[in-house]
Amino acid sequence: MITYLRRRKRERLRASEFPGEWRRIIEQNVPLFSRLSNEDKQELLGHVQVFVAEKHFEGCGGLELTDEIRVTIAAQACVLLLHRDSDYYPRVTSILVYPSTYVAEEERSIGGGIWEEGGEVRLGHTHERMGVIVLAWDAALHGSRIWDDGPNVVLHEFAHQLDFENSSTDGTPVLESKQQYVSWARVLGAEYEELRRADAEGQPSFLDTYGATNPAEFFAVVTEMFFERPHDLKSKHPALYKELAGYYRQDPAAFR
Ligand SMILES: [Zn+2]
Repeated sequence: MITYLRRRKRERLRASEFPGEWRRIIEQNVPLFSRLSNEDKQELLGHVQVFVAEKHFEGCGGLELTDEIRVTIAAQACVLLLHRDSDYYPRVTSILVYPSTYVAEEERSIGGGIWEEGGEVRLGHTHERMGVIVLAWDAALHGSRIWDDGPNVVLHEFAHQLDFENSSTDGTPVLESKQQYVSWARVLGAEYEELRRADAEGQPSFLDTYGATNPAEFFAVVTEMFFERPHDLKSKHPALYKELAGYYRQDPAAFR
């Protein structure tokens, strides 16, 4: 529940003047920004004000935090919030940023309900049971500056958080109607199975086969493609594009 006071505070933050230096950072590091309508730009900048004020950023592995790091990450994360009545990733309290790839020690599912522990080299990760998102700064910056290649670690990790908002890690975020759930399950379920089949048979696929890991990774991977390569996604997977456009209430293929 968003309290009245919090709502007021957010309204004030969104209405306050956006720092010129922050805007220059976004224009330089987040090329998607220039493709948005003026209305969407204003909405995004407002969300960035709230996000930076509410989330705790921490530099790890010797990284010294700067406004460039905070604002570049915030702007990408907030693209996923446009046009929706959101609570700004309520489960995320902190964003931990490493200079580059790092080794994460954690349990991971290897299927069949079995978990194993170990170190894994990562560009980013998050988990339903942790209120943090961990990111490698070089990957977060590169993924943003090269906006149309597909991979985007910030969109990926924050999409996971949207998935967690209904307290399950199943690749289905909070949708608005029963009809939307039915159609989401039908379309994403079929697309996921097709990607799994392509992966198992070694067939080429437009979608990154990392998305065949499980439905949660599938949602994160297709979110990256929805914003980074919307035209290709729309022509190759029109039904999938339509479901994502319905959830995100955006049509990136129509961006300038
Ligand atoms: Zn993931």
